[in-house]
Amino acid sequence: MLGTLAKWLRLFGFDTFYANAEMDDDELLEMAEKENRVLITRDKELIIRAKKKNIQIVEMTSIDLDEQLSVILKNVDVDEKTVLSRCSLCDTILNEIKRDDVKNKVPEKVFRNNDRFWFCSKCDKIYWRGSHYDKIQSKINKIKS
Ligand SMILES: [Zn+2]
Repeated sequence: MLGTLAKWLRLFGFDTFYANAEMDDDELLEMAEKENRVLITRDKELIIRAKKKNIQIVEMTSIDLDEQLSVILKNVDVDEKTVLSRCSLCDTILNEIKRDDVKNKVPEKVFRNNDRFWFCSKCDKIYWRGSHYDKIQSKINKIKS
């Protein structure tokens, strides 16, 4: 239920694992404990269990994305350097790719207006700063104000 939030956390550069429906609570708690992750959830039962294991939790009560993000940003700062460093779909760290290599893979206007491009080696998705970056920056500003 927090899929959009997960996508945004990745755009901010946070290492974000989004639990799929096949994962049960036991597996989730084990992973959070082992990988020292903060558990973000709306599930009250899961929160009680996580507290017993001393897993750091953020209880998400709002269904509004901006409110959800402001809850997170109250606890952690976004590092400008990590913005747009991860794939929003799969969490993989992005690699910079030569401009020439994306020539026929992005819209012509995007190619013309951007000098630098990054790509996800897992999804083959190409990222550039233009619209993505502006959207992220204005989101951060909006939430912080
Ligand atoms: Zn990816």
